[in-house]
Parts: sequence; structure tokens; C-alpha cells
Amino acid sequence: TRYVYRFGGGVDDGGQGDRNLLGGKGANLDGMAAIGLPVPPGFTITTEMCTRYYVDGGKYPESLTPEVAGGIAHIEGITGKRFGNAADPLLVSVRSGARASMPGMMDTVLNLGLNDETVIGLATTSGDERFAWDSYRRFIQMYSDVVLELDHGAFEEALEIAKEDQGYSLDTEMTAADWKALVAEYKALVQKLWNKPFPQDVHDQLWGAISAVFGSWQSERAKVYRRLNNIPGEWGTAVNVQAMVFGNMGETSATGVAFTRDPSTGENAYYGEYLINAQGEDVVAGIRTPQYLTLAARERAGAKPLSMEEAMPETYAELANVFQILETHYRDMQDIEFTVQQGKLWMLQTRSGKRTAKAALKMAVDMAHEGLITEEEAVARVDPAALDQLLHPTLDPKAPRDVLTKGLPASPGAASGLIVFDADTAERRAELGDAVILVRVETSPEDIHGMHAAKGILTARGGMTSHAAVVARGMGRPCVSGAGGISIDGKTKILRVGGRELKEGDILTIDGSTGEVMAGEVPTVQPELAGDFGTLMVWADKVRRLKVRANAETPQDCKVAREFGAEGVGLCRTEHMFFDAARITAVREMILADSEKGRRVALDKLLPEQRDDFAQIFMVMAGLPVTIRLLDPPLHEFLPHGEAEFEEVAKGAGVSVDTLKRRAAELHEFNPMLGHRGCRLGVTYPEIYEMQARAIFEAALIVKARGGEAPIPEVMIPLVATAKELELMKAIVDRVAAEVFEEQGERVDYLVGTMIELPRAALKAGEIAEVGEFFSFGTNDLTQTTIGISRDDAGRFLTQYVDKGIFARDPFVSIDVEGVGELIELAAERGRKTRPDIKLGICGEHGGDPASIAFCEATGLDYVSASPYRVPIARLAAAQAAL
Ligand code: PEP
Ligand code: MG
Repeated sequence: TRYVYRFGGGVDDGGQGDRNLLGGKGANLDGMAAIGLPVPPGFTITTEMCTRYYVDGGKYPESLTPEVAGGIAHIEGITGKRFGNAADPLLVSVRSGARASMPGMMDTVLNLGLNDETVIGLATTSGDERFAWDSYRRFIQMYSDVVLELDHGAFEEALEIAKEDQGYSLDTEMTAADWKALVAEYKALVQKLWNKPFPQDVHDQLWGAISAVFGSWQSERAKVYRRLNNIPGEWGTAVNVQAMVFGNMGETSATGVAFTRDPSTGENAYYGEYLINAQGEDVVAGIRTPQYLTLAARERAGAKPLSMEEAMPETYAELANVFQILETHYRDMQDIEFTVQQGKLWMLQTRSGKRTAKAALKMAVDMAHEGLITEEEAVARVDPAALDQLLHPTLDPKAPRDVLTKGLPASPGAASGLIVFDADTAERRAELGDAVILVRVETSPEDIHGMHAAKGILTARGGMTSHAAVVARGMGRPCVSGAGGISIDGKTKILRVGGRELKEGDILTIDGSTGEVMAGEVPTVQPELAGDFGTLMVWADKVRRLKVRANAETPQDCKVAREFGAEGVGLCRTEHMFFDAARITAVREMILADSEKGRRVALDKLLPEQRDDFAQIFMVMAGLPVTIRLLDPPLHEFLPHGEAEFEEVAKGAGVSVDTLKRRAAELHEFNPMLGHRGCRLGVTYPEIYEMQARAIFEAALIVKARGGEAPIPEVMIPLVATAKELELMKAIVDRVAAEVFEEQGERVDYLVGTMIELPRAALKAGEIAEVGEFFSFGTNDLTQTTIGISRDDAGRFLTQYVDKGIFARDPFVSIDVEGVGELIELAAERGRKTRPDIKLGICGEHGGDPASIAFCEATGLDYVSASPYRVPIARLAAAQAAL
């Protein structure tokens, strides 16, 4: 097997670059080399090597040594420099690069190849002694941290002391001699902390760095990032070794990052930041505040320092030309890293840029209009899960705002919450159900669990491409970065801004679309659903086969669902209506009655209320199917809590509190989810289902009588295990329907069907379909009962199950295709065999999960049903599944 692929100087071993093999960075370096762009020469060690490295317990095959030597020889041939040569040394960077980008999660080593001899050669060839010794000390510092894993604080402290001794405040004041002295101290530190001298052999340095990069694939932060982003652990990372180019060789050198379109808004304008006389990491780390790339952006921000377009017009023009070439070549917005070394432009990286949902949408629609991609590609480009960001409320423009300060609009959307100052507290408070805003000077990869737990992120430092900004955009969290007006005291947990002080727990609102930071909570408004969103949805609907319905039980939810394009209600959970404060007493009376007569008295009070619920829903959903599920939950969920509630119910029912309490004790169940619930309620208390059926049909006739389109009720029986249960329940529904139609001299069409949410029901679907006219897969219960894990408690151990690879994803979020999925396939097949036109849908939470929707498409279901806000996500996911 070949493990090394070279690129640059007219060579591109990888052809157009296979990103699975070379990783995203390696594939695109190869791709850029192939189309003749200026890429520093280098080579990529494949992701297969990473996988093998772990399988073989951290060892390399013998064949790798000559391959790597060949890669180094390739770089030497093109640069004319020799690795380890004292007179004119070659320096390289060693970087990670997985299939999917994992910004900042893995290791990088720069300036590799420097030692006590080559540093002198570098000083001579560059004509800059200060630069050479600065590079050497940067290298020792980075290598000690990343490869030797020594305490990096010790190195920073040594630098601080060196500056203090000289009375300097900035690194730029350090002279060549100062850096040289610091290098000696750094080497002594390595000897002390590592018990060995700093490696002088450049080949030892190289292999150390390669192993460190492979090793960082399994670092804690990389694992957390993979879990949050569903990146499989077996992918592995590639290692890219490349000739160093320097953006810190004086005023004609620079380094920067750029996007070919604005990653926040999607606007078709170059967007980026650069720094003169700096190394690449300086921009990303947010240490110096970068300057604008374009004149237009600088003017818009009212910033002083010259943009690159003004300061380096010729190089900028060359760069802009490269942007065009890359966007046309990759047919997508590119995120680029570049360096200018003494006036010469070098491309260090290009990749499809991360973007906000808003930008993704705008770019996809714009690019289709520009003819760069097709409408179908546009549909495929937008991540359905990311649409979530667009569908949620933004700040009410008319609401008063107590604006404290303004930072950079790093990731759009608005959020309010309690202030917390560290990631662990953010996570803890979020677990307790608090909305929190994580406030940091700047974030680092160690903070990602807290960023994930927070509703929004605010940082005092860092630009639009800082860690906080990039990660927040990826997660869809609103973020304001670089809010220079705030100062944070991490010790006393106080945030100071404009003479005011806020402490941990105070409420803060941030608007990631404008950069505003506000005290207190600001009300929000619903998003705009026309424009690009509407256009993309039209394109998605053209290719989609699956219908999309909503899980909704109030007229308001139904309205939202219809606006989002729902084509019916797939699940109306009638018990939610029972919890209404005005009727819970009657519901309790019904449950606690110990005779049919007592229950009927209470049910008579509920009938008009249910009828009214259904009539309103039928009005909103006119002409569309509405699946109404009869009562499902274990009765104990409705029991009174506490003395006052018992007294109230006793009064309404005309019995003593003691009698009621005895009855409540009788209803207690050890395992309520497997208990007296679902159709078992209908079997034991048929009068409940009778009342509900009557309410449905009377409501349907009321709505029909008002003219307009007649509703299409689909009456659904929950938790059926046997055909006989369904037969009994259907008989009740049919009888009540006939009675109501007879009474009113008018009728509507309706269906009676069942949920498939028990393994026995899936197995016996052939028999059940003889009675039921439709199936709706209740995958919440079906997952619970198939795997035998509680949907209410499993959270405590499921993350570990996912970490250990027992499940690829939480089976309550994304269908366990192999297990639960097989039951669904089998039930669909057996049901269709009995009743070829049986309607099949899914109404568990999985109905809004893109991966599960792809499974539903493959299984040939007729529709998916999701909560109203996820209806557009489901429409898009269904379209992508059909492509
Ligand atoms: C299900 O079990 O998947 C379902 C939709 O019903 P519920 O969540 O109400 O139990
Ligand atoms: Mg269920």
C-alpha cells in the first residue's frame, strides 16, 4: 500500500485528490497544485496510515520510512533547500487534516527543521538574524507543547520574565540577542522537564511531529468534537508535511484567511482578515486583532488600518483572481488560508467554508441562479438540521434594548440567558434547565462542551474567524465575538462594561446578527419565511416523494405547521388537551371514579371541550388529513398532587378525600410505561374512547356544515399489540360514527388505524392490517420496547453507549436502522401484503431527523410527521433522500 502522496511544483500524486484518503486539507492542496495555483510543495501521509497506526499499537510499517524520505526529497528538489542542511535549511510545517474539517481540534507544528546549526543558516539566507532566532524559539515552544507534551505555561513564563528583565511590554521589542538568550533558556527548560535535550536531529523532529498529529486524533477534545458533529472515529486524520513559507519576514510579508463569500450573511463579496508581518497562527488565535481584506469591508466598519486591497494592491489582485478560480473549480464558497512571503503569494489551504444556515441558504440559491450549480444541487447543499437556526425567533426590532456594547456579529440569532464565565458552569446550569450565555475573554477548544450547552456565546477578544466564531457558527449558536468594550474578571466573576457591573447569574441578551450585547431579556419575533427560504423549499418540494405532516395538538401549533408547509397532522396527542388547567379537574374526576357511571358524569363535562378542540384544529387544517390519537398515557400521570388538588377533585366528584386517595393508591403502577395505558384504557374503559370518537365526528360535522373543505379525520388507536384489540376499538369508533351521522343526517369520510409501537404489533402487522386502514410508526415507544431501554431515563448511560460505539447515534434521536428499522421494514411489508393501499407513516421524534427520514424514504413510507418547527427540515431532508 502506498501511504505518501506528493504535491506542488507541477506534481500532484493524488490526481484531483480523494478526501477520504488524503483528508480534506491534503486533497485540496493536491487539487490546487493540479490546477497550477501557487502551493508550497509538500506531501500527505494518508488517513489509512492513521488507522493502521492505531491498529498496530503506534508503530509504522517499514515501507513508510523510504516513502517519507521520498516526500522530503520532493520538497528539497523544488525549493533547492536541504532538510537539516546547516547552510540553507529546509523548514517544514506538519499539520493534521481529516476528511471533515475539525478546526483547532488537532495538532500542528511549524518551523520544523530548526536546530542549533540550521538556525545560523536561516539567519544567513534570510539576512535576518532576529527572524531566525524568533522562529527557533517558536519552534521549541510549539514542539515542546504539542510533541513532548511539556507544560506550556513554563515557556510562556520564561518569555514574560525575559521581557520584564529588559523592560519590554511587547514581543516585537525583543532583539535577535534576546531571542537567542531565550532559546538557551528554553533548551534548559526542556532538559529539566523532559530529562533529555531538545531533539537536534531533524528526522527525529519530523517523526515526533508525525506521531503527535496521528496521536491527536484520539485527544479528548477531538473526541468531543467528533461526537457533537457525528464524525466517525474510524476515519482517522492525514498528516500534511509542507515547505514553510513565512508571513513574518517584514512589511512585504503577510498572512491571512479569506472566504470567497461572506460566511455569515452569504453575500457575494470577498470576506477576510489579514495581518502584515505575522505567522498564520496569529490570525486564528486572536492574539493580534486582524485587519480587513477589502476596502469595502474596512469602510463599512469605519476601521483605520489599511485593508490588504489598499496596502498590497498587486498581491491582492492576484489573490482575488485565485478566489475566482477556486470558486469555479470547487463550485462552492471557499475558506482559504494564504501567506505572502516578501511579496510572493502562497496558498496554504482551501476548503468548502463553514457557513451559517442563513448564508448556506443564500449561497445555494444565488449559485443556482448564477448557473454555478443546479437547483437540485442547491437542495443538496443546505444541511436540513441547520435550517433550525433560521426558523427560530430573532429579537423584536420594536422592543426596547438596553445596549451595553457592540462586538462582531460572529454567528447569527438572538439568545438570552444567565451569565456564566466558564464552560463547566455553563454545562452544569444548562443541565438544571437554565438558559445560559457563556462569557469568555476568548474561547479555546477546551470550552466546546460549554459552548454546546450555552444558548449563546460572548467573547471579549478575537475576530470573525476566531475559534469562538467558527465553532459557534458550526453549532448554530448565536455568538458575539471581540466585544472589546467589556472586561471580564474571571476570579470575582464580574463583567464590566461602560461603568456597569454584571455578575454571574444576571440576565444578558446577545444578538449574533448585529453584534449587540444587551442587559436583561429582549422579546423575540418569528422569522421571515419567504425569500430564499421559500425558493429553496419550492425546489425541494419538486423532488420530494415523502409527504410531511406535523405533530400538533393546538390550533396555534397547527397554524405554524401549515405555514411551514405541513400537509396534514400526523399525530394529535389528545392527552395534551386533558392537561389544560380548566379541565384537569374533570379529567381527574373521570380517572378516580370507581364506576362507569361516575366516569360518564365526568366525560360529559369533557365532551364539549374536546369537540371544540377538534373543531378548531379541523378549521385550520381544512382539506388535509388529521390523525387524532385516542387517549394513551398511563392514568397515574393525571393524578392530583398534594392536598389542595385532592380536595378540589373530591368536591367536584362529591366523594371524600380519603376515598379518592385510596383510589389513587390503587392506580399506582411499578412500570407505568408498560402498564395501564394506550388501547388498554379503551378496552377497560370503553366510554373514554366513545366520548373522544363522538367529539371527533361531531366536530367534523360542525366544520363541514360551515362550508369549505371537509376535514379528513384519521382515528388512531395507540399501543396495539394484537389485531383483536384493534378490532374491539374500531368497533367502538365505527358504532359512534354511525350514531353521530344518523343523529345529524350528515357524514364525513374517515379512517381508523393504529400505531405500530410494540414489537408484537410489527410482527403481526399482516393480521393487524386486516382491521387497520393505516399504520403510524410510533418509534419512540417502538425504540423503547425493542431495545428495552427507557425513553425517560436512558440519557444517563446512552452517551457512553455512543462513545463506546455500541450505537452510532442516540437511538431515540436517529432510528436504530439495524434493529428497530428491521421491524419497521417487516411491518410495512406484511401490512402491505394484506392491504396493498395501506397508508404508512411515522410520528415518533425520528420523523424530524434527517437520517431517519432517509430511512423512511428507502422503506417507502408515505409520510413523516414532525413537530411544527421541524417540518421544513423534514421537507428538505425528504427531498435530499429522494435525490
Ligand atoms: C411514539 O411512541 O413514537 C409516539 C409518537 O407516541 P408518544 O411519543 O406519544 O408515546
Ligand atoms: Mg407512543
